[in-house]
Amino acid sequence: MKMARLMSAAMLLALAAASLCAQEKPSEKPIKAIRFGKLWDGKGKVWSNAVVIVQDGKVRSVTTDASTIPPGAETIDLRRYSGLPGLIDVHTHLTYYTDETPGEPLRNQLTNRPAAVEVFLARKGALRTLEAGVTTVRDLGADQYMDIAMRDLINRGEMIGPRMFVCGYGLYITAAPYKAVWTPPAGGAADGVPEVLRVVRQQIAAGADVIKMYGSTGTDDDVTGFETYTYEEMKAAVDTAHQFGKKIAIHSYGPEGARDAVRAGADSIEHATDMDDGTIQDMAKRGTFYVPTIDHNRYYVDNGDRIGYAPGFKERLLAFIPRNLETTRKAFKAGVKIAMGSDAVYTMYGENTRELGWFVKAGMTPAEALETATGNAARLLGKEKELGAVAPGYFADLVAVEGDPLADINVTLNHVKWVMRGGEIVVDKTLKQSGR
Ligand SMILES: [Zn+2]
Repeated sequence: MKMARLMSAAMLLALAAASLCAQEKPSEKPIKAIRFGKLWDGKGKVWSNAVVIVQDGKVRSVTTDASTIPPGAETIDLRRYSGLPGLIDVHTHLTYYTDETPGEPLRNQLTNRPAAVEVFLARKGALRTLEAGVTTVRDLGADQYMDIAMRDLINRGEMIGPRMFVCGYGLYITAAPYKAVWTPPAGGAADGVPEVLRVVRQQIAAGADVIKMYGSTGTDDDVTGFETYTYEEMKAAVDTAHQFGKKIAIHSYGPEGARDAVRAGADSIEHATDMDDGTIQDMAKRGTFYVPTIDHNRYYVDNGDRIGYAPGFKERLLAFIPRNLETTRKAFKAGVKIAMGSDAVYTMYGENTRELGWFVKAGMTPAEALETATGNAARLLGKEKELGAVAPGYFADLVAVEGDPLADINVTLNHVKWVMRGGEIVVDKTLKQSGR
């Protein structure tokens, strides 16, 4: 009894000391005021002479009145540049990073490395992704939960990279010719409804944010689009994901897999060329997102020899790209919501936003293209109140570009000068530029 009373007195003292400390400790992170010549806020407004007030990693306010900058705030003057919300790439594979090791085809590197080495090397791709102005990614397929490890390391500040939403293993059927020289990761194999349920649940139990299913053949230099899963299997995956509050992305290179994925209620359709008008109408009606990933085939054309594709890949890929573009044009015209996904793998990190150039070719204005990498992408993630805009309460994810991104999409593709993620500056090329 006496002991207990002593203990509680000591605890009270300790508590009092702790609360004193808390009161005296100044706010750890100073308020920042970022000034832009112009700011496209991702909510349809362009601000001239914008001031973005950032506190604790979030946007506190946006104003044009510099006199409201709180005293003692750290002011970052980017008035030479245009500001954008941090961009979102909804289709990456950050753990499929490869480098320029002489004599080794890029695709072989992925089979030869232990997971720990791959995650360690992937930080380079993550940094290049940030340099492109991409501060958030939805990573759609990894081996051995490397994506979950990476997401958690980035969230803890142990690794610098974009905020990641990850899926663990993508689901695929047995014997799909998924990679010619590469066995699909064993953890994703699922045939029949019961196995689909098990594998979806396993990804969620492991910590996945989203589910990925490969609903057709087609990857790398293989552009076949044969449907692999049945409608019933897709429906089982969709319903299970939704039951746990997760969204699901279904991969289909061809129209049949896309049609069934849409009918099954998938949240987004990845790649999908040649979609018929009925499927496109259905997507517009249901609000299914289309993630065309046109540019990754351009990357494969440019780098196929280094990747290690057999001769003939260029012809196949070059025939596929215009069909992919045409499907995007049709879908956009029909009012389908489109989100930017690069499908960046190998050495493509940093080229993520080139996809936006194709979207302009498909009929979008630069502002509409930017919407696919901000508001639309955030809605696909279910994070439209935190990501994809510069507004009070949103994460302080900001990009400064040189030029007018609403006049020319290439400004966003090629002239990113400065990037902030969650209130921290992660890329700064503003000094290099001035020629001093
Ligand atoms: Zn992919």
